[in-house]
Amino acid sequence: MKEKINHDDTLPKDHPRYESLKYRHKIIEGMKEIVVAEAGLIAHGRGECFDYMLGEKTNEIAEKAIKVAVALLLISEKPILSVNGNTAALVPEELVALSNVVSAPLEINIFYGKEGRVKAITDALIKAGATNLLGTDESKMVEIEELSSNRRRVDPNGIKIADTVFVPLEDGDRTEALKKLGKKVIAVDLNPISRTAIWADITIVDNIVRVLPKMIKIAGELKNLNKEELRKMVKDFDNKKNIQDILEMIKEHLEKQKEGAFKILE
Ligand code: ATP
Repeated sequence: MKEKINHDDTLPKDHPRYESLKYRHKIIEGMKEIVVAEAGLIAHGRGECFDYMLGEKTNEIAEKAIKVAVALLLISEKPILSVNGNTAALVPEELVALSNVVSAPLEINIFYGKEGRVKAITDALIKAGATNLLGTDESKMVEIEELSSNRRRVDPNGIKIADTVFVPLEDGDRTEALKKLGKKVIAVDLNPISRTAIWADITIVDNIVRVLPKMIKIAGELKNLNKEELRKMVKDFDNKKNIQDILEMIKEHLEKQKEGAFKILE
């Protein structure tokens, strides 16, 4: 039997990059369990790079997008939360909690359809408490014609009939296809200029590990508002401005780093 090493135990909590390393190890463990595809490691690294540019914290621009995203999920008739390998490895419990609080099923939808992967992700989500799970029976999937990748296969009771799809860590082709099918798309992507970020209706430019706990908390609060108030929040949101504001913020952050980054040498 393969020995499983718990890297968390070997990481000193006062290590300056503790959080980042903790999630890096979750991705590596996920890959060993075939929850995460090899390419998922590279995608994670791309995300880490952008996270550095954002100061590795949730800014008020992302905070606003998070709030509007939750409002949209709450007013949607058939919202779906799409799950890929990276999100299942990083935040399985939080995916389940969000699914429960906004009453949206989780649908497993992966790019690299290696034998046994859907089962591995299903097991990880069930272990995290998932009961409302779609995309698990590959023989029942239908195709989205707009797409050529493995991700064209969707659950007939999920993304196929959804009005709003929450797509953390998505690739651009699929986001574009979902938009062309008339779906509302909420993306979580640390890269504010990825095709996904640009195509989505609401782009949360932040790390999924920080976004989901905030969404769960805000959903509890927004549930008490009436639908008209939630609709107004969604209507007033401008995603182009949201992304431009984030880019401005990154510029300012880098400008500060130009001087401030060297303070650790003093
Ligand atoms: P696109 O096709 O949309 O232009 P891409 O080719 O970068 O983008 P992928 O590599 O499939 O698409 O997607 C991975 C995306 O997920 C990257 O943009 C990366 O920044 C982002 N990402 C990776 N890890 C995280 C994370 N933990 N939280 C949020 N976003 C992340």
